[in-house]
Amino acid sequence: MIPLVFATSNEHKLKEVRQLLPAQIEVIPLSATEWDGDIAETEATLEGNAVLKARTIADALEVHCFAEDTGLEVEALAGAPGVHSARYAGPDRDAQRNMEKLLAALANATDRRARFRTVVALIIDEATYTFEGMVRGHIAHAPSGSGGFGYDPIFIPDGYDVSFGVLSDEVKNAISHRGHAIRQLVDFLTAYFKCKSPGSPPAQT
Ligand code: IMP
Repeated sequence: MIPLVFATSNEHKLKEVRQLLPAQIEVIPLSATEWDGDIAETEATLEGNAVLKARTIADALEVHCFAEDTGLEVEALAGAPGVHSARYAGPDRDAQRNMEKLLAALANATDRRARFRTVVALIIDEATYTFEGMVRGHIAHAPSGSGGFGYDPIFIPDGYDVSFGVLSDEVKNAISHRGHAIRQLVDFLTAYFKCKSPGSPPAQT
């Protein structure tokens, strides 16, 4: 087993990621480590925040580690809430209030196109690698479904007529921003650990 710390305290993200990573990778949540601090997401981009979170934990615990940051980018709002998605309606990161604020902002919008974007940052043997995943869709007029988390009840992915809140975990993982990014991480880890010794790792970013 290859231990890999996932620098998150979000149980929903942990569940989705565990469904995608191969059995040889032991995904260790932050709650199972000695880390008990907070990581302020102070960067201006998803990539910056993902790297910041992974670097903070890799340095503090001296482990292989990955982190991710996700944003919902709405066309009619010039890409907002984007990197500010978690605190869109205030510092308490309340999903219900975030959705209500977004629905109010789009009350008169005919263009409801949006996309979720996830950046995963991996720090392994001191090097940093990033992987990006995206799913396009649109914002519904009202929430539906009780699955998923965050903005899922109001996001309808392209090719479907129901929200991520209605779709199963399997379907969400197959088409989602996080699913796409994590599958790239899996491909990388598979190649890396196969070729690491005696060969060399894939190119570093
Ligand atoms: P963060 O990556 O934890 O900062 O998440 C940013 C915001 O997007 C939070 O409000 C999350 O609840 C929300 N979010 C992250 N991933 C998803 C997802 O897969 N579906 C719906 N909302 C999400």
